[in-house]
Amino acid sequence: MDFSYNENQKMIADMIQKFGKQNITPFVREWDDAQIFPLDVFKKLGELGLMGVLVPTEYGGSGFTYTEYVTAIEELSILDPSVGLSMAAHNSLCTGHILQFGSEEQKKKWLPKLATAEWIGAWGLTEHNTGSDSGGMATTAVKDGDDWILNGAKNFITHAISGDVAVVIVRTGEKGDSHGMSAFVIEKGTPGFSSGRKEDKLGMRASETAELIFDNCRVSNDNLLGNVGDGFIQAMKVLDGGRISIASLGLGIAKGAYQSALQYSKEREQFGKPISHFQAIAFKLADMATEIEASELLIYNAADKKNRGERMTLEGAMAKYYSSEVAVKVANDAVQVLGGYGYTKDFPVERFYRDSKLCTIGEGTSEIQKLVISKQIIG
Ligand SMILES: Cc1cc2nc3c(=O)[nH]c(=O)nc-3n(C[C@H](O)[C@H](O)[C@H](O)COP(=O)(O)OP(=O)(O)OC[C@H]3O[C@@H](n4cnc5c(N)ncnc54)[C@H](O)[C@@H]3O)c2cc1C
Repeated sequence: MDFSYNENQKMIADMIQKFGKQNITPFVREWDDAQIFPLDVFKKLGELGLMGVLVPTEYGGSGFTYTEYVTAIEELSILDPSVGLSMAAHNSLCTGHILQFGSEEQKKKWLPKLATAEWIGAWGLTEHNTGSDSGGMATTAVKDGDDWILNGAKNFITHAISGDVAVVIVRTGEKGDSHGMSAFVIEKGTPGFSSGRKEDKLGMRASETAELIFDNCRVSNDNLLGNVGDGFIQAMKVLDGGRISIASLGLGIAKGAYQSALQYSKEREQFGKPISHFQAIAFKLADMATEIEASELLIYNAADKKNRGERMTLEGAMAKYYSSEVAVKVANDAVQVLGGYGYTKDFPVERFYRDSKLCTIGEGTSEIQKLVISKQIIG
């Protein structure tokens, strides 16, 4: 097996590093401090083909596989995890749902706009009272002639304010019935569709998170993705791919934090020698490097299965669970390696530390990943 970057991955990594120097790195602190969602950056990422990484070229995308997708998220997340998170939500959740379950007509209508970032996408499953237990959702869609009327609200939605279009999963049947939910595409400007409160967050502050509100929102049956009752099953399949996204985000965070810690440990001297010469610090770095390598292997294993069209629920959950926990641990250790300086905003490790926590929560918490893994292995 060859785990080195293929030509496309090399090209993507190089492109993001060059792009980031000018368009991301100088602004990360400001975006984080003021919770600014840098919409123009995503428009530019669209020009680079990074907002439709998995979308076939016939729909205006880049037509890459999950292998290249992992690299794109990882490289962006090394620069700014918020950008990695938003790029991932747009690509694998909103766009990915339409790509997997839209009709030909629906794909032609929405994918070219999403793949080029002319439109930014959101995806709404979570509600105020139903996160891990998303199947218990309360937002409803009721049939009215050829249309559907939606009522309720979705919570913690990435791009709920700046998004131009959202895929939302709502109840069309009985509570407790996994076939009682359906997925709809809702465009911004649809009467009765609005955004609510923006969250003030611990980390991932440049990635916008807010509510989506439906107040007698009328949408055509043409906006239904797949069949009535398929929404929840579709969402679970979308999340299988989404787990690769969050795992890659965690990998980028861990690599960014590790690189900062490694460099600092070689430069910072205490007791007459670089702190990397102390075994306590050197062993932390050894653990970080090993865990990052292990995350990477789990992620590429899941991505490889996905590329081959094989079921990867187990591998995706393992990659997401492990990589997320590693991101938190590595970021925590990186702060420790930098000591007091790691606790200040002069170095990026404190931001990696705050940003990393999202990985163990978003798109299924670590506890839920362990439920998925244990269900798969025990049966
Ligand atoms: C920055 C950010 C962006 C997000 N973006 C989106 C988005 O774009 N779209 C979207 O739909 N959602 C989004 N989410 C929501 C996210 O997916 C949920 O927060 C997550 O699924 C957890 O749900 P919850 O917050 O309601 O926690 P809860 O489900 O209330 O969980 C609370 C705690 O209980 C534990 N727990 C719950 N059930 C069990 C169980 N059965 N066994 C063991 N432990 C359990 C959890 O692991 C957790 O530790 C986002 C969240 C954040 C913070």
